[in-house]
Amino acid sequence: MTAAVDIRDFVVAYETGGGAVFALDGIDLAIGAGETLGIVGESGSGKSTLGMAIGRLLAPNARIDAGDILVAGCSVTTSDDETVRRLRRERLGFVFQNPMSALDPTMRIGRQVALAMEGTPDTAAVERLLVRAGLDEPGRVARSFPHELSGGMAQRVVIALAIARNPQILIADEPTASLDASIRDRILDLLFAMRAETGASLVILSHDLRMIVHRCERVIVMYGGRIVEMGESQAVFGSPAHPYTRALIRAAAGNEAPGEQLDPIPGVPPVLRAPSADCAFAPRCAHAAERCRRERPAERAVGGSRVACHFAEEIMAASGTAREVAE
Ligand code: ATP
Ligand code: MG
Repeated sequence: MTAAVDIRDFVVAYETGGGAVFALDGIDLAIGAGETLGIVGESGSGKSTLGMAIGRLLAPNARIDAGDILVAGCSVTTSDDETVRRLRRERLGFVFQNPMSALDPTMRIGRQVALAMEGTPDTAAVERLLVRAGLDEPGRVARSFPHELSGGMAQRVVIALAIARNPQILIADEPTASLDASIRDRILDLLFAMRAETGASLVILSHDLRMIVHRCERVIVMYGGRIVEMGESQAVFGSPAHPYTRALIRAAAGNEAPGEQLDPIPGVPPVLRAPSADCAFAPRCAHAAERCRRERPAERAVGGSRVACHFAEEIMAASGTAREVAE
């Protein structure tokens, strides 16, 4: 697997009035060229921080404490601003939760799309891109301002902007969370169709484990700024090894409507004041033992996936398959 993005031992803390908050606590991850990758985890697990870090788009109060991210072999942490801007324009495409905040409210759509494309495209080229993004009446859309579009149309425009230069990596952070339930599937269909057309890697950050497992080849489960489990979606869902993954599957199974937030897992996610020297999930884990509070579990191969839990084998042997977990 050729890596499109290589993330190495990456640590990010936010400076806040109350001290530092560690959002990423040692992430190692290679994103393969052309793969579809879903990243799941509860609110605050660090998904958006990871997505933004790939484009060096972190908030000004973020501090990179360790590690590096390479996009197409180029460091986004140490390269100069011009190099990173070029990487962002030519290699990366971003789709965020709220399309309106990604669009310039004062500029017609056609002009925004033209600026995102290479060179000086003519009207026909702009409209062709809008049609690729599933927009009927591209002429009317091009003449519109963002506020004249529905949320679903605006997100199609954002996807058009993201693919304008055939990026190698598309990063979509909760791309349907702000949209009506009725159009979420169609927007996801479009993202995956654009991925297939361009051959880009697609990274989707989401709470929706079922959608991720259904649509993505590989899944990463994050907790407390760390990767706790990763592997082929079918392997992770079919035989989840980390207690947190099992809890997520159980919570998702209790949810009838797709796209809804998970049922809460008892307890709250941690706010890390320092890199963790233990297992961050231990306070909420029914299987936690003394060792979990003392020793940070290393990531290792268990079953078909990679897991950071001291007792993954025992827990899997004792508590059965995902189907049983969900029941
Ligand atoms: P959600 O599902 O709610 O979008 P997330 O998984 O995307 O959550 P992040 O937004 O990456 O999580 O946040 C990770 C941690 O960093 C959380 O504890 C969050 O409160 C904190 N955090 C994020 N941005 C900032 C910021 N600009 N300043 C201070 N803390 C921040
Ligand atoms: Mg987020």
